[in-house]
Amino acid sequence: MSSNTGTNEYFIGLEKLEEGKYLTYYSSGASERASYLAEMAEKGYSFLQEFFQTDFEMPLMVLNKEDWEKRSEFPYGAIFSGNNCVHFPANTNNPFLDTVQPIYESSPKHLQQKLIQIVGEKHPSKNGFNIFFDCKIVHELTHVFLKNQNILFGLHWFTEFFCDYANYAFLKRYEADYRDLLDLHEFMPSIMYTGGLSHAKYTRSEDFDRLYTGVGWLNLLWFYGRNMLGVLELYKVHGEGFIADVVNAYIPSNEVLVERLRSVNNTLGPWFKDWLTKNP
Ligand SMILES: [Zn+2]
Repeated sequence: MSSNTGTNEYFIGLEKLEEGKYLTYYSSGASERASYLAEMAEKGYSFLQEFFQTDFEMPLMVLNKEDWEKRSEFPYGAIFSGNNCVHFPANTNNPFLDTVQPIYESSPKHLQQKLIQIVGEKHPSKNGFNIFFDCKIVHELTHVFLKNQNILFGLHWFTEFFCDYANYAFLKRYEADYRDLLDLHEFMPSIMYTGGLSHAKYTRSEDFDRLYTGVGWLNLLWFYGRNMLGVLELYKVHGEGFIADVVNAYIPSNEVLVERLRSVNNTLGPWFKDWLTKNP
């Protein structure tokens, strides 16, 4: 998810991981979790740099409830990017995950059983979603990269789809390191889609674009499940190539402008092409 916060003095009152590690600010007492998340952030950042030509800082924030609520209107634990930072809860017993428990409860029994096999019998929903969201760092970093490269799809659902795609491609690239996470990552969308269906009042992409979190958290999870199933399908065909293709198609440039104008008007595109040749 993403939001614009845009405030100064954003890091005041927080601690910072030592030099040499990924730039990470965290609430007092969360150094262990901050270090754990920083490792994936570092790797994910390098991965995304291959597709986006930029190298500015995008800090990781690992916050307790109090520090979180000073910086965001999202409920504590609902990970997001904003102010060029990515935000994760310091608490491993993430309270936001209680909100999405009905998704698990509404999913078919055989999927619940399978989740139990993966994460164990104790709090399968909470553990499953916890692991699932913890490996969404690349999703959140992708939001920040897009914003800083002025890439605006204008379609909320596609932005989320693209960020999920980049996140999944990252886990696939490092499959050997993230084997367990990857299995869960491929499985949770089925729970989100089937379990979310009975809670989904809105199912059209235009609803998602118009209302975003306003569709409600359970409905939102259904959308993410639907998107992720699409991501898994598309990745099999396009792999990492999709990321580069999309970035190239959307980076603002004279060539992109000419192509877009050409697609709606046969003479307008060529006119600008000529004009730009004379007035580079
Ligand atoms: Zn997102």
